[in-house]
Amino acid sequence: MSRCLLNLTPDQLRDALVAMNEKPFRAKQLLQWIYPKAASEFEEMSNLSKPLRENLASEFTLRSATVVAENVCADNTCKLLLEFPDGERVETVLIPDGTRRTVCVSTQIGCAMGCAFCASGLDGLARNLTAGEILEQVLRFHSLETPVTNVVFMGSGEPLANYDATIQAIRILIDPAGLNLSARKITLSTVGLVKGIRRLAEEDIPLTLAISLHAPNDELRRELLPTAANKATIEELLDAAQEFYDARHREITLEYTLLDGVNDSNLHADQLANLAHQIRCNINLLSYNPVENLDFQCPNEVRFQAFANRLSQRGVNVNIRTSRGSDADAACGQLRRRKA
Ligand code: SF4
Repeated sequence: MSRCLLNLTPDQLRDALVAMNEKPFRAKQLLQWIYPKAASEFEEMSNLSKPLRENLASEFTLRSATVVAENVCADNTCKLLLEFPDGERVETVLIPDGTRRTVCVSTQIGCAMGCAFCASGLDGLARNLTAGEILEQVLRFHSLETPVTNVVFMGSGEPLANYDATIQAIRILIDPAGLNLSARKITLSTVGLVKGIRRLAEEDIPLTLAISLHAPNDELRRELLPTAANKATIEELLDAAQEFYDARHREITLEYTLLDGVNDSNLHADQLANLAHQIRCNINLLSYNPVENLDFQCPNEVRFQAFANRLSQRGVNVNIRTSRGSDADAACGQLRRRKA
């Protein structure tokens, strides 16, 4: 089976061309076609010789997935369902906002973390995605005319549980020979795997780290995020977050999805404010997208705002993140489940 070029690092790609008796400068031309120009066919690569294009096409592919569903919402959020040759499917989402074009990528098919409110974890983990399969999700929405400006690792799967492929994809996204994005335009959202956060702090990548907290005490966190909460307490998690801040000097984002009657009381807000004061962080309050067969709901607007106000009054930097794409199976993993 042909290998997908997106799985090769720029150095590996240079080596592959040298092995084909090509001059090293061809690698630069090829990389420009693969990333900034997001070519999907070798035929498009007009400054490469025909024999080279044919050689490349006989050994490699530029895409590995096919698009099996596309949902576009009234707010222009676009969700694609991609199917890989093994029949596994994954979602990728474009969220346009003025000149900003953010792609939300998945890092795994399904997820092993089993968070109680999440559609992606309902069927467990099918497999990890390769770096190329992660990058393809971005390139599906990218072109020279309409470039992707931001990438958030917030789709299906836990990025730090697929560490090597995730980091390889991020390195290509920020590589001047790749997509040349600023690391600051990349957000990695983790359910809170402490070892992975510590490892990430040692990488020279000043990305934005978002930690899915969703509960302000260990007892509730064990109910909502059992796998993550059984691996580490909130205190241990905040210590790891502080290590990341000390190493990368990037303020941490704590994500907190409000669930009606579950984690949205005044006491919860006060507990959350106390945690937020322990590290340099801001809090993103997220509205919940209901998932079929799960019993959680988003609180009403009054309750939502009251929770946000209570955090602000306690000196917490809080942002409200309303849901985008709510008419496109917005909860991650939902389109994949519905089209299964
Ligand atoms: S919320 Fe994230 S970590 Fe938890 S099950 Fe869903 S995809 Fe996995």
